Amino acid sequence: MTYRGRFAPSPTGSLHFGSLVAAVASYADALHNQGTWLVRMEDVDESRVVEGSADEILRMLEALGFEWNETVIYQSQRKRRYAEVLDQLSRQRLAYVCSCSRREIAALAKTGIEGPVYPGTCRKANDAFSSGKAVRLRTTEEEICFEDLVQGKHCQVLSRDIGDFVIHRADGYTAYQLAVVVDDADQRISRIVRGADLLLSTPRQIYLQNLLGFPRLAYAHVPLVKDDQGRKLSKQDLAHPVSADRPLESLLAAWHFLRQISPSQQLDRVEDFWLWAADKWDITRISALNQ
Ligand code: GLU
Repeated sequence: MTYRGRFAPSPTGSLHFGSLVAAVASYADALHNQGTWLVRMEDVDESRVVEGSADEILRMLEALGFEWNETVIYQSQRKRRYAEVLDQLSRQRLAYVCSCSRREIAALAKTGIEGPVYPGTCRKANDAFSSGKAVRLRTTEEEICFEDLVQGKHCQVLSRDIGDFVIHRADGYTAYQLAVVVDDADQRISRIVRGADLLLSTPRQIYLQNLLGFPRLAYAHVPLVKDDQGRKLSKQDLAHPVSADRPLESLLAAWHFLRQISPSQQLDRVEDFWLWAADKWDITRISALNQ
């Protein structure tokens, strides 16, 4: 199978060290496997987009020597495609309109692995789609498992652990879970290498792929960079700067975070780094981080 990978940043600020780690892992993995590597701008939630940050991220990636194939796609320009898929799921009665408020849900819901499990209140209502209302996907009791290349086997029962989840938001935007599945399929991505914060989202994405008849992908979720308090790094993190002036320093910091071997010779240019990294990348070294 031809290898197609991608890096999918959300343009909500500059490229921070946590995203750089995901970018380095997915690019090095694609290079090592002689694959194609794409960049996709995940600006589906336009309310969170910071103007100018998409271009800033692309310029930073260029300065760090990343070279992507094909044109960068922007989720904000793919609304028609998402609407088509939403329509298909609704016609198949796999999706339904939900007008419950957060408070109504909280009053009835059990707690799952990511907060309240939607109690299914609107499942039977059959409300017509209208603006201002969310659309949820019906989940089932089937166990969904996958073998992550870094984290090992992971399973979820969606109806118990997550509940019927939102695929189209009440504010009118397509939910990340739906957009990502459609984009990865349309871009014929074969392996996703990304941060471990999305490990719990993966069974939802596999479920959607199955419903839509999309091919199954391989996954590698790399450990998250945390701050001193053990929280996920924010875009404002000042302790781990990503610098276009000292690109090799930033690349090597990400590389070492991923437990990769140190270069035995001095690397002077980003081009030399990537040539060397393509050869030396070893995804199996990362799991040591989890122990
Ligand atoms: N856009 C997401 C982020 O920046 C990544 C989504 C993905 O890789 O599937 O965290």
